[in-house]
Amino acid sequence: MKENYLDELNQQQREAVIHINGPLMIVAGAGSGKTKVLTTRIAHLMRNGVDAFNILSLTFTNKAAREMKERVEKILGSSEARNLYIGTFHSVFARLLRAEAHRLGYPNDFTIYDTDDARSVIKTIVNELNLDDKHYKPSFVYNRISAAKNSLMGPEEYQHDHLVQQEDMRANRPLIGKIYDMYAKRTFKNGAMDFDDLLFKMYILLKSFPEVLHKYQHKFKYIMIDEYQDTNPAQYEIIKLLGAVNENICVVGDDAQSIYSFRGATIQNILQFEKDYDDVKVVKLEQNYRSTKSILNVANEVIAHNTGQIEKNLWTDNTDGETIKLVRTMTDNEEGRFVADTIAEQKLRNHYNNRDFVILYRTNAQSRSFEESLRRKAIPYRIFGGLSFYQRKEIKDFVAYLRLTMNTRDEESLKRIINYPVRGIGKTTMEKAVVYGNDHNITMWEVLERAREFGFKGGILEAIDGFVTMIKSFQALLNNHNAYDVAVVVGKSTNIVKELFNDKTTEGLARYENVQELLNSIKEFTETPDEEGELLDKSMGSYLQQITLLTDADQGNDENSDVVKLMTIHAAKGLEFPVVFTVGLEETLFPSGMSINTREELEEERRLFYVAITRAKSRLWLTHANSRYRFGNLVQNEPSRFLEEMPEKFIDRSYAGGGSVRNAFGSGATSGWGNGGNMFDRMQRKAPGQAPQQSSPKPMAKPVSSAATTHVPTPGFTPDDPAGMEPGMQVEHQKFGFGTITAMEGAPNNRIATVVFPKGGGEKKIMLNYAKLRIV
Ligand code: ATP
Ligand code: MG
Repeated sequence: MKENYLDELNQQQREAVIHINGPLMIVAGAGSGKTKVLTTRIAHLMRNGVDAFNILSLTFTNKAAREMKERVEKILGSSEARNLYIGTFHSVFARLLRAEAHRLGYPNDFTIYDTDDARSVIKTIVNELNLDDKHYKPSFVYNRISAAKNSLMGPEEYQHDHLVQQEDMRANRPLIGKIYDMYAKRTFKNGAMDFDDLLFKMYILLKSFPEVLHKYQHKFKYIMIDEYQDTNPAQYEIIKLLGAVNENICVVGDDAQSIYSFRGATIQNILQFEKDYDDVKVVKLEQNYRSTKSILNVANEVIAHNTGQIEKNLWTDNTDGETIKLVRTMTDNEEGRFVADTIAEQKLRNHYNNRDFVILYRTNAQSRSFEESLRRKAIPYRIFGGLSFYQRKEIKDFVAYLRLTMNTRDEESLKRIINYPVRGIGKTTMEKAVVYGNDHNITMWEVLERAREFGFKGGILEAIDGFVTMIKSFQALLNNHNAYDVAVVVGKSTNIVKELFNDKTTEGLARYENVQELLNSIKEFTETPDEEGELLDKSMGSYLQQITLLTDADQGNDENSDVVKLMTIHAAKGLEFPVVFTVGLEETLFPSGMSINTREELEEERRLFYVAITRAKSRLWLTHANSRYRFGNLVQNEPSRFLEEMPEKFIDRSYAGGGSVRNAFGSGATSGWGNGGNMFDRMQRKAPGQAPQQSSPKPMAKPVSSAATTHVPTPGFTPDDPAGMEPGMQVEHQKFGFGTITAMEGAPNNRIATVVFPKGGGEKKIMLNYAKLRIV
């Protein structure tokens, strides 16, 4: 155990860490150690006798959750941290709902719909209502529904809320309430929850079932929330319910970094906290440990242009560092080249690795020019967010089979694949199945199961029966096969892999490779043990939950690989990098053209800029282009107004890089854009659109016995030679104690033993390549 962990903290940080009971709020600027305090506090609680099982900690990404666990483990020197409930709101609530969903009439194996799935259901409904889906755009309707759920407004309330109805009337879309109602019923029938349901249904569960509320109030004796400024009303209410008995809630936030403002909730979240509880201890942290003086001064000055901040005086003891480089290029392609050239130069000059750089932009669409130039210079990079791997058609098709196998009520998945690969079940057949299902109040799957009864005949009946039998054969595998084994059978039996293999076009090849990549990743999932060599839940259900809840910052989980990272500023919240490029600093792009119509909108853009600047530890470049292609048109852009808000003293505006740089405020080209964004656009933007906050891929481990290993290994046996193990043998595991092997499986070089440990938590799968398992 690390004894001196408190010595690493300053006075205020220590004060926050050692405050054990009662509500605690830490309001502090960027890089002042908020997350560090939260992590250290968890370790401190555990050192002071709090059981890890009683601690709930909500983070912004899974990555943050993993890092927290690791840091707690380091301080404690034990693996107890694995028993903490740490994750994003979405991942933690998904886990709790898996245990409780039946109370709400959902299957416990409910499917989680991602944004695409949800929009597709909405589109179906819009079409069923004979509305124009160009007018009732699924993405727009989805955002409205999402906003409603995040304010805990169900379809009934939505349809009766005067203000909401007025807004919809003004947007000339009066039927959104009706669509919401149908959407809620449809997803329920499908046994599916969308991202917002993970919060909304959690709230309903706690509100409707006092015994459930009681259980979790007593389980989560200590609750901690990072990035509190961005909690939405649903999250806020859930926390209030869970924390009501013990009131051991610790929230950490920075009003200046609120970037998901939701119906005016920015500073309010933080101010309200003091009103909600008596005797709130408030700690302010003012020393920044992350950035140079230049970077911090620029950040402070920029954010001072916003009104209504909580008074903070953020300072740093760090060096002045380099000035901030402001660079103007002629075009977006030149901007891309400049950044790639500068990265190459900085690597040589200052011995940076690729992983030290991040390129931050306002919108995902900006990544292209950077990708091209990085590729040209052979600099490895990874994009976070955007059209992710899991949103590609072939991947969604394959995953739809897996999801349907898990949950036959999942109509979205069923529709997606019922005729893929083509098996002669056409649109008419599907429409009939939907109608029969609605008429008899059964699912589409049940109609297919009873196809003969519903009058399907001949070739169609045969095709349906074949399909149903196939899915049932996959289901039969679920109990005793892991996710990969099931996926391989699915790939073969459906002919998907073969079909893609036979498609020799470039796209076909890419699709084939993607599906192979998917299979690889499922394999990796099933074979990755935890630190003790234990294979936790590797079932299909566990796998599907993990991939659905990936957040932008979690994609590409080999975080330590040496690549330049590209992401939106939203996805970069809470992260830090030695060198930051914030690009596209142009009017109508950043600030976004949709967010310059009110002071509130503009201030949120400015907070976003503040977040971008404060990600940088040592060096910061800000770039903008005179012209760029947007939506197929070449547009001229003026430099962002934010650039004029920076103090001259710390800025180098004449920096010439890549031979392409002009004076930053040279010829002022006029904007090719109007002042951007009609009412409709603004409403879209207003919706929370908060990325699903994350998932903990590993389910919680059971408590383990910590039997000390005193046993002398059998002579001749080494961990490298597990071949001698067979069912019936007695073995000893360093953590789980003595047990009996009940089964062996896996390839000869990758043997997996199923072992029952009577005192170590029951049956576990142990990978012998990793485990410290000895024959006794
Ligand atoms: P953000 O607002 O961006 O989320 P934060 O307030 O959560 O920032 P951290 O990420 O916890 O800040 O800390 C910023 C950096 O400062 C980290 O690298 C952290 O290790 C370091 N740090 C924090 N406190 C101290 C300290 N007392 N001594 C040395 N380094 C510290
Ligand atoms: Mg933080």
